Amino acid sequence: MKKLKDLNIKGKKVLIRCDFNVPIKNGKILDDTRIKASLQTINYCLEQKAKIILFSHLGRIKEKSDLEKNSLLPVAKRLEKLLNKKVIFINETRGEKLEKAIDNLHEKDIILVQNTRYEDLDGKKESSNDKELGKYWASLGDVFINDAFGTIHRAHASNVGIASHLESAIGFLVEKELNALSYLNKPNKPFIVILGGAKVSDKIGVIENLVTKADYILIGGGMAFTFLQSEGYNVGNSLVDYESIDFCTKILNEYPNKILLPIDVNVTTEYSNDTENEVKDITDITDEQMGLDIGEKTIKLYKKYLKDAKTVLWNGPLGVYEFSKYKKGTKKILEFLVKNEIKTILGGGDIVAAASSFKDKIYHASTGGGATLEYLEGKKLPGLEILK
Ligand code: AMP
Repeated sequence: MKKLKDLNIKGKKVLIRCDFNVPIKNGKILDDTRIKASLQTINYCLEQKAKIILFSHLGRIKEKSDLEKNSLLPVAKRLEKLLNKKVIFINETRGEKLEKAIDNLHEKDIILVQNTRYEDLDGKKESSNDKELGKYWASLGDVFINDAFGTIHRAHASNVGIASHLESAIGFLVEKELNALSYLNKPNKPFIVILGGAKVSDKIGVIENLVTKADYILIGGGMAFTFLQSEGYNVGNSLVDYESIDFCTKILNEYPNKILLPIDVNVTTEYSNDTENEVKDITDITDEQMGLDIGEKTIKLYKKYLKDAKTVLWNGPLGVYEFSKYKKGTKKILEFLVKNEIKTILGGGDIVAAASSFKDKIYHASTGGGATLEYLEGKKLPGLEILK
């Protein structure tokens, strides 16, 4: 698989698939981490005097009313500020206007093409990797760089499609993500995995793949209650993923000393930040209560294991961190990892959002939750396979 530096891109038309799928509300970008993460690749192409054509998706496009709110225009404006350079925004995904703009490009000019998923309105052309569309986009450039780690586990026209027709390589961001994840194949030990978030079913593949490599798996978040229910505890109204109970029973039987569960939880009566809460041992949860965070005793217990860790992989928050009352478990454990300088890889999605204030102190915070999970499950990633 080639890397950006392996290609001669001097003066060439370089198509770059970025991941600009950032949260936007009323036209305002709420978090530009992903845009910033693309800068190294774009700046390198500028240094090489390439003509740059950027592609990205943003959100999902199911009907016409999804178009305007998922326009990449705010991203073009933010990019201009970050690069201190004009970014030509083309409000089309194909056609004469786009082709002319590309013909008129000078060295070091940058075009941002409108959201690739605008093509989904017409028979999901982008998301189903329509052959003609990939071929058409490829015809617009000389080489292709895939730097969108967040969609590397998907076969779309803007990654697999284009790469099928052009000399292609990965960009610096994808390279960095892969280096961090491949470190987990031979991590310094003890290696501890922390898993939280909502559903066990999303993480079964990861648990199965990592349970033999990790020294311990510490469980929190909503998924802890499916494990606790499988052990016979009354979890009241807590989130339970009933289809995964058999899996939990099986894996706890096979690895009784490796998988750790909370011993106390912060409970309330409604999924809300406003109802009364209290911390209870897991033996004492009543029918009307639901657990929304791990408790103090569990935080202490988990710290005892993490104290000696040399590598930590963490996916999913340990509580409903969006509510101020239930972010404590996630925050305390994050602070502990940072304070003790434990090499920590955050597997994208909510845990990265929860750790935004610690960003610079974490060894690696992935830009792709789904892609990281599929990599850790040992699955092949189509966006990479096509480059091999
Ligand atoms: P996931 O996408 O599976 O990583 O899940 C992330 C979501 O899990 C976040 O929105 C959290 O609010 C939610 N979550 C974490 N802990 C709990 C809990 N105890 N009960 C319900 N939801 C939770």
